[in-house]
Amino acid sequence: MEELGEACLCRIEGARSYICSMNTAMNDAETFMREAIKLSIDNVEQGRGGPFGAVVVKDGKIIARGVNSVTATNDPTAHAEVIAIRNACQALNTFQLTGCEIFTSCEPCPMCLGAIYWARPDKLYYANSKEDAAAISFDDLDIYEELEKPIEERKLFTRQLLREEGLEAFRKWAESTKKVGY
Ligand SMILES: [Zn+2]
Repeated sequence: MEELGEACLCRIEGARSYICSMNTAMNDAETFMREAIKLSIDNVEQGRGGPFGAVVVKDGKIIARGVNSVTATNDPTAHAEVIAIRNACQALNTFQLTGCEIFTSCEPCPMCLGAIYWARPDKLYYANSKEDAAAISFDDLDIYEELEKPIEERKLFTRQLLREEGLEAFRKWAESTKKVGY
């Protein structure tokens, strides 16, 4: 971080420009991503789970971390991003991550991407791509492809059932005065 600051042309010229602040921000981003990557490496070295780590940042500080814990906790949803989001929401005592940035060591799978959209952070950064993950048999690409198919053509048997009865809860929600919208 300091290295780039000292070398920054904007500072040499004595003008703190837009480009300079962009550089500083990107430099911070790389620092946070390095932490996510470090978590992913540690997770493998310690045999805790898949090679994935994530951090949530707010106001320039890491407020939560997560590592893949699927096998350690027998939880197929325990991906690094989901755990980092849960920890961040606990830390902030909220269900939305407005004003936060998520740094994940790998491009999110569809589940995590959905979770990230639900959490509503401001920005998302990733290091490895989903193609990189597929190359070591973490085939999220498969799920992305499934999502594009019509329901009847997906590998997972999926059929709609009892919609009218299911709608009862939605009608109640629409009329509820107790609900907390999100
Ligand atoms: Zn995931």
